[in-house]
Amino acid sequence: MATENNLSLTICVYCGASSGAKDVYEEVARNCGQSLAKAGIRTVYGGGRVGLMGVVADSALDNGGEVVGIITSHIQDREPKHHTLTELQIVESMHDRKALMEKRSDAFLILPGGLGTMDEFFEILTWKTIGLHDKPIVFLNIDGYWNPLFALIDNIIDQGFAKKEDRDFMVVDTMEEAISFFETL
Ligand code: AMP
Repeated sequence: MATENNLSLTICVYCGASSGAKDVYEEVARNCGQSLAKAGIRTVYGGGRVGLMGVVADSALDNGGEVVGIITSHIQDREPKHHTLTELQIVESMHDRKALMEKRSDAFLILPGGLGTMDEFFEILTWKTIGLHDKPIVFLNIDGYWNPLFALIDNIIDQGFAKKEDRDFMVVDTMEEAISFFETL
């Protein structure tokens, strides 16, 4: 259980390296960083300073939170690294990045994002399906952003290419619900 000044819980946030088309996405990213910091939860993320990723990190830091960034050297031209994180790990490959993000975290929180966020989600979900970890995966589904993805996954299950139990993630509408759940871990 996470308490103030007790950083026993670490949440990995996956989200866009862009800001998205609507203001609400940055608002939710700001609320995410702030809520994690105020709950005494450490944030792990991809280490950049742009898009929703940068907003989450800045907001957590501004509210006294610990933020660990994990980035590769080659991606820094596209996604400049954040300079004031609590800790920044520079790894060799995208695979190393995803593996270390998983290792350093107790659960995963997915905000709106793009193809990279989907890649991260599918990898962490399929790792769970094949028993490589048993950590919770939670979508913060702002404005129904991820509904088309859930419909696709339902179709995959309906058509017999995945099992019902493979849909092993939670969906919440608010950051408060996400924090309440994380505090049960
Ligand atoms: P996006 O959702 O496309 O804005 O990307 C979100 C994050 O996912 C960014 O930090 C990307 O660098 C990262 N990303 C994109 N592709 C991959 C990949 N194959 N493996 C790991 N991370 C990735």
